[in-house]
Amino acid sequence: MIDPAKRKLSYLRLSITEFCNFSCNYCLPDGFVGKRSRSELSVAEIGNLVSGFAQLGIKKVRLTGGEPTVRADLPQIIELCKAAHGINKVALTTNGYKLAKHLEDWRAAGLDQINLSIDTFNEEEFAAITGMNLLPQIMADLETALNMGAFSIKLNATLNDSTWRTVLCDALEIVKTKPVTFRFIELMQTTHNTDLFFAEHARSEALKDQLVQAGWQSTTRGETDGPAIEYTHADFAGRIGIIAPYAPGFCETCNRLRVSSEGKLHLCLFDSANFDLRPLLQPGKASELHARIKSLIQVKPAEHHLKAGDSGLMHNLSLIGG
Ligand code: SAM
Ligand code: SF4
Repeated sequence: MIDPAKRKLSYLRLSITEFCNFSCNYCLPDGFVGKRSRSELSVAEIGNLVSGFAQLGIKKVRLTGGEPTVRADLPQIIELCKAAHGINKVALTTNGYKLAKHLEDWRAAGLDQINLSIDTFNEEEFAAITGMNLLPQIMADLETALNMGAFSIKLNATLNDSTWRTVLCDALEIVKTKPVTFRFIELMQTTHNTDLFFAEHARSEALKDQLVQAGWQSTTRGETDGPAIEYTHADFAGRIGIIAPYAPGFCETCNRLRVSSEGKLHLCLFDSANFDLRPLLQPGKASELHARIKSLIQVKPAEHHLKAGDSGLMHNLSLIGG
């Protein structure tokens, strides 16, 4: 699948629920409001969706949310994504709630990669950001996951102006010996985090300069890699990554399509429209689904308008998973 900006689309990010049990201050500052939807895509619909995208050239699927681990059928979903012909990587983004409890099931289902959100290594700060005093448990579970040796593991933190230098020092201690990638994500403005955004948004140039001065070298992104530029250093087992959606040229390398937990295709995270695929996820609709996806990618926006403060439909990133 090639869009009009000549970008090859090979990476599907699928939200399987909007619901979340955390209340991160930059995402859901008031926690999840209302009741969890009863209309999340079923396992069968997800199967048809993923096979359809795989036949059109998607090679990697990331399961996200909300918090994807609240779905009891997550192992089945992983398994069927993995079984879709052409999918060679299945990844999961999670806040790490009860992580250790799930690991064996995920390994058995064939999960390749876990992205775990850890915004700080300070226990009080973690509780203040997420509304959950769980850092020690999550760090212990991360150790268990690493010891299993079954998953590629990345840690995600938002890049906050007042804290990133301390977080970087702590992250370097970890990547010194552990084969994980610690990635900073520039804070993105949404309608639910405006005050925090203006107080804490930092551009990643200073971080990049600090890494380069310390001898870190950028690596080349692979075809299905996400938007991070990852840096390596001979003295460190792991990597440091930077996701900089406000940097010039960020959208030029976009290889992603997103689908919401109720089957709406978002051509860009910050688009102001989405497109309902659900009627085409029913039995016997495969060729109509193909045709619809192929025609919709012709209107994939060339870029987002975040710099103008326009986050489109994204009131918060739990709606579609970042
Ligand atoms: N609940 C899961 C988690 O937190 O990992 C998956 C969904 S969450 C929306 C996916 C990622 O988006 C997390 O790493 C989170 O830190 C990031 N995120 C959420 N809101 C953000 C924002 N406004 N700016 C930058 N990153 C954000
Ligand atoms: Fe939930 Fe993830 Fe948003 Fe935090 S970042 S509130 S864990 S969806």
